[in-house]
Parts: sequence; structure tokens; C-alpha cells
Amino acid sequence: MENRTDILSLSHKEMQDFIVSLCEPRYRADQIYTFLMRGASSFEEMNNIPKKLIEKLNEHAFIATAKQIEKLTSKDGTAKYLYEMYDGEKIESVIMRYHYGNTICISSEAGCAMGCAFCASTLNGISRKLLPSELLSQVIQTQKDIGERIDGIVLMGIGEPLDNYDNVIKFLHLVNEEKGLNIGLRHISLSTCGIVPRIYDLAKEELPITLSISLHAANDETRSALMPINKRWNVEALLTACADYFAATGRRISFEYTLINGKNDNEDTARELASVLRKYCKNMPLHVNLIPVNAVKESGFAPSNKEGIKKFVAVFEKNHIVATVRRHLGSDINASCGQLRAKKAE
Ligand code: SAH
Repeated sequence: MENRTDILSLSHKEMQDFIVSLCEPRYRADQIYTFLMRGASSFEEMNNIPKKLIEKLNEHAFIATAKQIEKLTSKDGTAKYLYEMYDGEKIESVIMRYHYGNTICISSEAGCAMGCAFCASTLNGISRKLLPSELLSQVIQTQKDIGERIDGIVLMGIGEPLDNYDNVIKFLHLVNEEKGLNIGLRHISLSTCGIVPRIYDLAKEELPITLSISLHAANDETRSALMPINKRWNVEALLTACADYFAATGRRISFEYTLINGKNDNEDTARELASVLRKYCKNMPLHVNLIPVNAVKESGFAPSNKEGIKKFVAVFEKNHIVATVRRHLGSDINASCGQLRAKKAE
């Protein structure tokens, strides 16, 4: 498989070049590309391609399809997929149905090396990074399964997207191709635990995506205890990078803050968070997403109670920082990432 071309990682133009390199007419690339975007997982099912070319394609290329092996559907319409990659690695995607359209949450790596204390995705470490094709295939196969267009993407599944930088950037270009899925970059969010140098790289890509920062703490002591990455790039380095990113791109950043009972959810912490955001991100519109932590049994953390959340939000309101509490979609199907993959590994 390694010597063959990963055809789904090719742009439309690259696919044309590839087909021409096989001494075939360019228009064949258009036909193959269309089949791939509709979810073909083998060349055999491309019924207007001559047999000889199918043989050639099998010899020189492979399709890295995300193969559905399990699907859980929630009462609220959210559905979670367990997908298997060509080498048996398993990852998860979640489709969320909103009144304004369908948004998919995809995985960027098989497992995760970041070690956040509250997260199920990192329990068994990382197996490998996903290919651009494997990111794209999650969208294509889910779109095929629901029979509706997917309008938006969040890179908030298993893995750290900025730890798989090149493949994620390639994927963003692929998914935005006019002849392909044509999903607008403005409808794509990328979430990171804070790999600071890659935030600076991302600013230079000039992609109008939304950057989302998993903050989860207001100071280094708490953040380092929850997120090991903070020992490498601390709160100051991270928030400075955010301010610089905004200055360079003009794109608003959203901050994710998961509320853990007794760990990071009291009013003093809320005040500290508001003040630290104001200090480093002075000229930036501030938006904080509060997410009651999803209890993962290994972490022993519990979500904050309603009263605690209300007080937390009130502090932000007083400080004129927009804070929204995330709706808890799909909680009946363990929709927070990594839980299904971890269960399979047991
Ligand atoms: N590695 C990236 C993206 C994947 S995690 C990142 O860290 O941002 C997507 C979001 O879910 C992050 O904000 C992460 O902190 C959060 N998350 C992980 N486990 C969670 C849990 N058990 N409960 C609530 N949010 C969680």
C-alpha cells in the first residue's frame, strides 16, 4: 500500500496530473474524482471506467476509505461513527444536526499524544497521524450515510490537529475544492490544546477558518495539572500567540473552557480567567465556550452543577465577555471524543 498513490489525498489538479502520468486522458480524472467525492471505496464500482484502467489504478493507487463499523444515534439526532482505516486503526466522527445545517466533528489522529487529564482520546496514547484522505473520507462517508450535504466541520475529534499540521492543512484545501465537497473555510473550526509555534504557522496560511483554543484553566498551576502541553507553552505564551494570530488574520478566536467540579469552576477562577483574557487579548473580541466536562470514568472528574455554571457565566457578563454554555448534544451516546475508540481497545 505504501508504494501506491493515496489517491484521495490528491487535489483535482493533482489527480489530473496523476492520470496523465499513467498515459490516460485527463477527463478520466474528472470521472474518478466525482466517484470519489460521492464515496466510492473501490475502483471497481466506478462503472464508466474501462477495465484496463481499473487494473492500472489498483496497481498504482489506493483509496483510503473510512469504513463504518459502528454507528450510534442519539435521541437528539446526533450520530457517532466508529470508522476503521485501511490498516485497522479506529477513529470517531460525530454528526450534529442543527437547524442551520449539518456539522461534522472529525478526528485528526488515531489516538492522541497530548495527555490531557480529562480526555478519553489520549488514554492509550497515539498510534499514528491520519492522512489528508482519511480526514476527507470521514466527511465524504458521513455525508453519504446521512444522504444530506454537510455544511460545516469542526476539527475537535480524536487527536491534536496542529500535531498533524501538514496533513490537516492539505485536508483544508481539499475539502474546500470547488469541484469537490466545496465546504467553505469560514464554516470550519480547528481546535488546539496550544501548540504555539504551529499557531504562528497557521496565521501565515491565510485560511479564513475559526481557531478554537482549549484553555480550560486561568493559570499555569491548574493548566499544567490538566494539560501537560502547558509545561512547554504556558498560558502567557498561548494567549500572546492568540493576540498575534488575531492581529495577523483579523479572525476571531473562540476559547473552550470545560467546567470540572471543584477543579476550575469557582467564581474566583472565573474572575481570574476574565482578567487574564483581558490582559493578553486586549484588542480582540472575546468569546468563551463553557462545556460541563463529560465524565470519563478514568479521569474521575465530574461536571459542575447548574448553580456553579450560572455564577461562572455571571462573572463573564459583568466583565463584558461573551460566554455561552454548550448544549450537551449526544450525551446518551457518549459523544465526547475517544470514548468509543477507547472502549474498543479494552
Ligand atoms: N486536541 C484538540 C482537539 C480535540 S479535543 C484540542 O485540544 O482542542 C476537542 C475539545 O474537547 C477540546 O476543547 C477538549 O479539551 C475537549 N474535551 C476533551 N475531553 C473532554 C471531556 N471529557 N469533557 C468535555 N470536553 C472535553
